[in-house]
Amino acid sequence: MKTTEIIIVGGGLAGLTAARELATSGREVVVFEKQKLPHHKVCGEYLSREVVPYLAQIGVPLEDAPSIDRLVLSSPGGRSLTCQLPLGGIGISRFALDYRLFQAAQKAGVSFVWEAVDSVVHKESGFRVITRGGEWQAEQVLGNWGKRSVLDRVQNRSFFTKSSPWLGIKMHYRATYPSDQVGLYGFKGGYGGLSVTESGAVNFCYLIHKNRFKETPDLEGCTKGLLREHPALHEVLDAAEPLFDKPLGISNIYFGHKGLSANRVLMSGDAAGLIHPLCGNGMAMAIQGGRLQAEVLQEYLNGDLADRELLEANYSNAWQKEFRTRLWIGERLQNVLVSPSGLNLGIRLGARVPFLPRAVIRKTHGTL
Ligand SMILES: Cc1cc2nc3c(=O)[nH]c(=O)nc-3n(C[C@H](O)[C@H](O)[C@H](O)COP(=O)(O)OP(=O)(O)OC[C@H]3O[C@@H](n4cnc5c(N)ncnc54)[C@H](O)[C@@H]3O)c2cc1C
Repeated sequence: MKTTEIIIVGGGLAGLTAARELATSGREVVVFEKQKLPHHKVCGEYLSREVVPYLAQIGVPLEDAPSIDRLVLSSPGGRSLTCQLPLGGIGISRFALDYRLFQAAQKAGVSFVWEAVDSVVHKESGFRVITRGGEWQAEQVLGNWGKRSVLDRVQNRSFFTKSSPWLGIKMHYRATYPSDQVGLYGFKGGYGGLSVTESGAVNFCYLIHKNRFKETPDLEGCTKGLLREHPALHEVLDAAEPLFDKPLGISNIYFGHKGLSANRVLMSGDAAGLIHPLCGNGMAMAIQGGRLQAEVLQEYLNGDLADRELLEANYSNAWQKEFRTRLWIGERLQNVLVSPSGLNLGIRLGARVPFLPRAVIRKTHGTL
């Protein structure tokens, strides 16, 4: 059996950030990631500027990512609202961002094993981690395995059996779109985002309720149907050249409460809780959550926290304090965006009270 000090399950933004932070503090860290990097992921790829200074400080290059300062909200009936984003963000693909963060983690001394973890068991002596390739022993394990994993079932996390009716679908296109703008396009049963990434590709990523998706033949047919339905999307993407063989899709996306630890494993990123994508804040939350997780674990390992109960309680309090309000507001906004009448009303209200959209956006983000 192989041994190490800390195992992190999941090499996405939360896992890579926590791994880099812990390795920088001199800890021995092994990340298990089931899919070798780089690869594309379903994501709107709008990264809130609040984490850009941190990424720059740890040496993640972002100069090629376009700066995004404007939001256009658009309804299928043709109404739209434009507003300047209070903090703004950048357009960067997950293919590039995760890989660059992986390189920073590797440089800090993190080791990587490209295998799926099948189970994690906590014992008096530490953790037993069973992977496709064998068995490991670690003093600590962090759970950063994203939205949904076989490990959620194995760990008996109660959300796993709850209804999670949302699908996410993404495609990159060669198309013309303003690089300083992110577009949010609402439609019945879902909404999509358009933005330009560092490669120049236009990313179209949308969330759709499974009942709406069932009306369509497949991922491609669903996307084509939406372009017919939404004139503003049609205008940008109808003649655009798709850059993937077929769209990427994920299902069973759950936005409810998940819990911040299970069987002594501390969670961060989407494994802890997913903010509604319309907020454009999930990536920043994953990076900030990974930092927070590493910081609290460090306090425990340094002997500053009396026991594991205190470790878990402190982490939970810190996480809730940082993210609870964003999650709550995101949920309310999503209800408006997926209903065409709600969206029209929101656009009319936003046009009459121009400070309102910026005030709401501020509440769904952190600060610089
Ligand atoms: C449709 C949609 C659009 C979005 N758009 C945006 C946006 O524009 N801006 C934004 O900021 N956020 C957006 N988000 C949210 C954002 O994508 C997530 O919050 C972010 O990816 C979370 O990072 P993470 O590290 O927690 O998870 P992930 O990036 O999913 O990483 C988890 C990793 O764990 C690995 N893994 C899982 N199980 C195992 C296992 N058993 N063993 C080993 N490895 C495992 C996976 O392969 C994966 O690489 C969007 C989300 C959706 C659904």
